[in-house]
Amino acid sequence: MKTKLIQIDGSAGEGGGQILRTSLALSLVTGKPFRIAGIRAGRQKPGLMRQHLTAVNAAVEIGGAAVDGAEIGSQELIFNPASVKPGEYRFAVGTAGSATLVLQTILPALITGSESSILNLEGGTHNPFAPPFDFLEKTFLPVLARMGAKVNAELLRPGFFSAGGGQMQIRITPCAQLQPIEMLERGDFVSRAVRVIVAGLSDGIAGRQIEGLKRALGWTEDVYFIERQKDLYGPGNVVITELSTSTHTEVFSAFGERGLRSEQVVDRLVKKVREHLTHGAPVGEYLADQILIPLALAGSGKFRTGQLSRHTLTNMDVIREFLGTEFEIQAESPLVNCVSIR
Ligand code: ATP
Repeated sequence: MKTKLIQIDGSAGEGGGQILRTSLALSLVTGKPFRIAGIRAGRQKPGLMRQHLTAVNAAVEIGGAAVDGAEIGSQELIFNPASVKPGEYRFAVGTAGSATLVLQTILPALITGSESSILNLEGGTHNPFAPPFDFLEKTFLPVLARMGAKVNAELLRPGFFSAGGGQMQIRITPCAQLQPIEMLERGDFVSRAVRVIVAGLSDGIAGRQIEGLKRALGWTEDVYFIERQKDLYGPGNVVITELSTSTHTEVFSAFGERGLRSEQVVDRLVKKVREHLTHGAPVGEYLADQILIPLALAGSGKFRTGQLSRHTLTNMDVIREFLGTEFEIQAESPLVNCVSIR
């Protein structure tokens, strides 16, 4: 083994799949091998699930890596990459597990360098507790573009939990070095949109959700849309808001579930939107944990956000293990934090 194994504790902090994904991502970027134990120890069903295993296998393929422990249920993994090969790849989760989280694993290694890549990803594109395609396309990738990496995402077919079957194509034009970014002021909103997406469910559900959202948000009538997805493996339902300033769009989402009333789905979304509007900072809760890797790779940068999630704090710890990055957190008020690289 070329260098000492970095030891990662998968049970630390948030204790979920993100610790594994960030480790894989930064191992590919740096070439440093690692061993992780206690994978997803903080979850009811610990160990690798199909989505995580697909992410491991994708990292093995693009990084020519040697791996030990890559099987469903495994709570320990050793990963030793050779070199990253840009190119055209297809990775299929095989269940409704999130394909956007597979992308989260391999994207950092493919956005720096000189050659382009194309990724054909299959699985869930709209999953609870994962970035929905819309967040990827409208929130996360535009931030990467501002940092110098052009990544185009096309949704070929949405895939909802629990049926899956989604497809997306990602075209990556890398840059030699990511540029730092500062996201400190929100600025005025230039547009808002509220979308209710339904697949294989009655129109009544979408109608009730739109009415509930109108009452709770009180935005002008022209911002509400219903999208009926046909010919999909249903059922699926997601409600999405898009809040855009001249420089940045924040996407928030909430998912319909069996046994959950439409009003509850609406309440979940409205709570997230209100929290974001109240703290007044530009970066939302989910972007805050996802922007950390690009920022660390750029070597500098700064953003304001609301309260920091456990995902964000845990991700900082894992990034420090691989890159030595020290993040500084300044609590500017009970609601606003400023995060920068020291
Ligand atoms: P688990 O181990 O919890 O089963 P997992 O591998 O599916 O997890 P987590 O470790 O919980 O995932 O990481 C979830 C990731 O998805 C985080 O990067 C988080 O920011 C992102 N995420 C979750 N919900 C949303 C959302 N609504 N919009 C955008 N991103 C989201």
